[in-house]
Amino acid sequence: MMTTEDNDDKQYKTILIIGAGPGGLCLAHSLLKHNEEKGQKFKVEVFERDSSPTDRWQGYHITLQPTGVRSLLNCTPKSLHSKLQEIAIPDPIKKLEDNTFSIVDQYGKLLFAPPNLQTKNIFEFSEIKDEPTTPVISYRDRIRDVLLEGIDVTWGKKCIGYEEVEQGVWALFEDGTKEFGEILVGCDGIHSNIRKQKLPNLKINNLGLTIVAADIAPTKKQIDRLFSISGGSLCKLLLGTKGDVIMYQMRYLPIQSKTNISNKDDDYTHYRLTITYSYNSLPEDEVDKLTYRDDESPESRFPNEEEPKDIINNVKEKLREYRPNNELTDLIIELWSLVPITDDSTIYYPFNTYHKPRRRPLRVIDPCSIEKWPTTRVTLLGDSIHAMSPWPGLGTNIAMKDAYELSQSLFKWSEEENEVAGNVDWRSCIERYEKEMRLYGSEATLISINETLKLHVRYNSKFGVFIRNITYKIQHIISKLVYLFKKVKKT
Ligand SMILES: Cc1cc2nc3c(=O)[nH]c(=O)nc-3n(C[C@H](O)[C@H](O)[C@H](O)COP(=O)(O)OP(=O)(O)OC[C@H]3O[C@@H](n4cnc5c(N)ncnc54)[C@H](O)[C@@H]3O)c2cc1C
Repeated sequence: MMTTEDNDDKQYKTILIIGAGPGGLCLAHSLLKHNEEKGQKFKVEVFERDSSPTDRWQGYHITLQPTGVRSLLNCTPKSLHSKLQEIAIPDPIKKLEDNTFSIVDQYGKLLFAPPNLQTKNIFEFSEIKDEPTTPVISYRDRIRDVLLEGIDVTWGKKCIGYEEVEQGVWALFEDGTKEFGEILVGCDGIHSNIRKQKLPNLKINNLGLTIVAADIAPTKKQIDRLFSISGGSLCKLLLGTKGDVIMYQMRYLPIQSKTNISNKDDDYTHYRLTITYSYNSLPEDEVDKLTYRDDESPESRFPNEEEPKDIINNVKEKLREYRPNNELTDLIIELWSLVPITDDSTIYYPFNTYHKPRRRPLRVIDPCSIEKWPTTRVTLLGDSIHAMSPWPGLGTNIAMKDAYELSQSLFKWSEEENEVAGNVDWRSCIERYEKEMRLYGSEATLISINETLKLHVRYNSKFGVFIRNITYKIQHIISKLVYLFKKVKKT
């Protein structure tokens, strides 16, 4: 017998979301947030392969641009905004945190820092349009924690593929179960199973670079030394000359001490810092194909079983080999020694979940590397369709933009098509989203490739380094002048 509830259920269109990263969770929120206002009834089901929210370390600081913060706020209900502001993306601390991004050389000398528009909080920051500015630094794990609120995620569900039928699509899971919905969205990151099935011809580009990233908890003394040698910005790229780059990101907010030790003491006040080391690994990498089809993914040269101790030692050896013998290099090596190499390490590690360091080849995905694909009930967003390199700090921003754009496009879906009202069928909704996403996603990927390769050039002469430095310095001066000119024009 059919009940009223069944009848009610029929009015809902189910959107299956695979992956509870920032992209998938923003999509879930946006569909639920705008349901009523847009007169639509979407039921959202989110499936995540991790067994629980704390299964894996979700950390890293991430830089957010105005587009990313705007999309995040647009997607989420107002009730979460104050939490995002207080917990995940705290207001900048005046004077201490005015300077968010810079590029310095191997001695810590400033090469480039974009103009900083100095906003009070994420709400002001999200209003910045069409003007280059420095990013805000946020905590990825805390953004995720806040985004999990109000979303009923089904954990421990690894999606291995899908099956499309006329009325909808089945998501297939490793545990043998399947779930039905009208639309399925793959938000399952760079190794997406959904993408592998949908677009086996898509090209994966290996940039010939290797990256190691870690979250550490240095003391105030160490941070003060770092800032005194290389300036105080919160996100910094320390360029080398042998094709290697050190990056760190942090907030000047001490970690709350779990002990009774006074936070006033510089030895005991700790900060949270994300540090990455990346290096040009050609010709080593020439054994890997630089571009390959998604369905011919090679085995990783860096298997999961690699010993963390060996990885960190390798980073330190490379730093000794590639960097000048100076105080900055010594300090960076000291910081790498703070990476715990076991989960029962005695090194101060205030994070709830241990993060095992890994080496990874840097890969990017350009959605325009193949012709436009036929529109079906299965679509993709975020890293699953346009994974990019971390340096311009765009990946999460674009994943959240996708989530907002896709949700807004889906809200145009109606059984009663009406061109004047803008109503269309599901196919047109997805087609519209994919057409735009392919363009801006590809543009962001290409920016990330260009920036990354530029940062990792290997120089054979001092003259080459001199030209690099001068180019950055000229860019620095021009960007300041343009900023000042615009400011004067406005007043
Ligand atoms: C070191 C580093 C620094 C970075 N810094 C920045 C930065 O400063 N700014 C920025 O904007 N971006 C940055 N990024 C990029 C950013 O992390 C990604 O672009 C972003 O996380 C993409 O979000 P997503 O939701 O698309 O995918 P993900 O964050 O990868 O989430 C995918 C989710 O899907 C789940 N999943 C995977 N496979 C399956 C499956 N088969 N079934 C079910 N669930 C599955 C995963 O467990 C995960 O929860 C950085 C990346 C790295 C590695």
